[in-house]
Amino acid sequence: MIVVLAQGVSLKDKAAIVRFIEQHGGRLMVSELGETTHIGLIDGTAQALAAQIRAMPGVESIKSEAPPYPQVSREYREANSVVDVADVAVGAAEVVVMAGPCSVESATQISLVAGSVAQSGARILRGGAFKPRTSPYSFQGLGEEGLLMLAAARDQTGLPVVTEVVAPEDVELVATHADMLQIGARNMQNFRLLSEVGAQPKPVLLKRGISSTIEEVLLAAEYVASAGNTRVILCERGIRTFETATRNTFDVSAVPVLKQKTHLPVIVDPSHAAGDRSLVRPLAAAGIAAGADGVLVEVHNDPDSALSDGPQSLTLPGFTEMMSLLKGVADAVGRFIR
Ligand code: PEP
Ligand code: MN
Repeated sequence: MIVVLAQGVSLKDKAAIVRFIEQHGGRLMVSELGETTHIGLIDGTAQALAAQIRAMPGVESIKSEAPPYPQVSREYREANSVVDVADVAVGAAEVVVMAGPCSVESATQISLVAGSVAQSGARILRGGAFKPRTSPYSFQGLGEEGLLMLAAARDQTGLPVVTEVVAPEDVELVATHADMLQIGARNMQNFRLLSEVGAQPKPVLLKRGISSTIEEVLLAAEYVASAGNTRVILCERGIRTFETATRNTFDVSAVPVLKQKTHLPVIVDPSHAAGDRSLVRPLAAAGIAAGADGVLVEVHNDPDSALSDGPQSLTLPGFTEMMSLLKGVADAVGRFIR
């Protein structure tokens, strides 16, 4: 529910409305949308008071059809949110490219890939240290050792790092070393994990679940925000459909739909969507054309011997080539890639 205040409402009336809601146990969000003040009621507590609030001086109207994810909804905050990942702003005019291997495999590997992608214009380094694998017999990641290798690659290149956290008890450790915490598709509805990353201050990269609707993505983001952290970036990474020609189906429409519904930055991951390196370039281009604020891609120095996701990983020269195409696409939609 959103309480819309009359234009030119007095400070006194505004304060009285806020006090009334808070006294009745309601959590609220005040946003200035153009000339108008909106007070969003975050939980159900104060909603029973709608009639009383409606009658208060300074109240213009009440919107009861508001989305169930107030903190991330565009209806509550009109302007795009910009999320800073260390010194890199995501959600502004720059399309931010995040690149690196699926898994951190060794200090040499991550250093090589990091150096190369930095040179080609990547702004954030990715690499998994805790890997959520479908089979328990697949490589599970180097854990803390991998985090230290990522941190060393950050020192080498200056690129901030994003890496996945798979368990609530690892959040503190991962947050010590990473600049942004990734919640993977398989964990998008791990609500305890969402609350845990919401209770720490580093930004969160929230990937769309394999079978999740857009409303479910937004509610997952709301979990993070409701725990105190609104620095969330959403990521379309392909969903499961009847189609078997690609690993997942890249839902390009998710980009403009999410941008309409939320003020949070939205990026795309064409690597996990496609599952095949030859498709990464066109899907990345499509994502940027559709309005994505960034691209997350897997890049490996020797994809054929990668310990995870080799077939979808770009080679180092493949990444460099893709960057020149993406710069043109960004330019065509009024954005830029450095
Ligand atoms: C990854 O980024 O390597 C990953 C596991 O992604 P997703 O959660 O989207 O499958
Ligand atoms: Mn991967």
